[in-house]
Amino acid sequence: MPHPSKKFMECLQYAAHKHRDQRRKDPQESPYVNHVINVSTILAVEAGIEDENVLMAALLHDVVEDTDASFADVEELFGGDICSLVREVTDDKTLEKQQRKRLQIANAAKTSSRAKLIKLADKLDNLRDLQINTPRGWTEERRVQYFVWAKQVVDQLRATNSILEEELDKIFKEQGLL
Ligand code: NDP
Ligand code: ZN
Repeated sequence: MPHPSKKFMECLQYAAHKHRDQRRKDPQESPYVNHVINVSTILAVEAGIEDENVLMAALLHDVVEDTDASFADVEELFGGDICSLVREVTDDKTLEKQQRKRLQIANAAKTSSRAKLIKLADKLDNLRDLQINTPRGWTEERRVQYFVWAKQVVDQLRATNSILEEELDKIFKEQGLL
């Protein structure tokens, strides 16, 4: 029977601890950690990814961007491979928001195929959420613009994983973007 490794469980616990005071933007204010668990689950269960470092990097994909954790912490605790995957999917928060959004489109195609998997699953979870909920304080226009921007990023990540891309395309079709 396959079982999660000790390292995987430590990673899950670390993500839950670091994100413990954060909430998502949905009206129910879901715990932030639900999102990173969703991203890892999408990869393992829906896409059948067995590369455990990718599944752990998915659990940690927002930990440097959104908590006090540093890349050095991630490297020390979980090693260089996971750290470099997290680095590839982390936005530079010193840049202003519109610039970060533009860079995601510009840089997506240059990332490794393992990092692309995480980016695709991250967008899929966020878009599934946005199909059900409009985040607190958002106008309908902002919600629509997020789908448009996400498709521009996803279009730079094509030919990475057909299952994830099909799920994303279903959403883009429903939104009239395909
Ligand atoms: P944000 O980047 O502010 O918010 C989206 C991000 O929030 C996601 O990428 C996700 O990031 C995180 N998130 C947290 N909770 C949720 C949730 N429940 N559902 C989905 N995502 C969640 O959005 P934008 O600023 O990009 O706004 C969308 C569009 O609207 C953009 O194209 C922008 O140009 C436009 N716009 C923006 C305005 C602004 O004030 N910024 C004003 C008007 C329009 P993660 O996975 O990393 O947590
Ligand atoms: Zn995310």
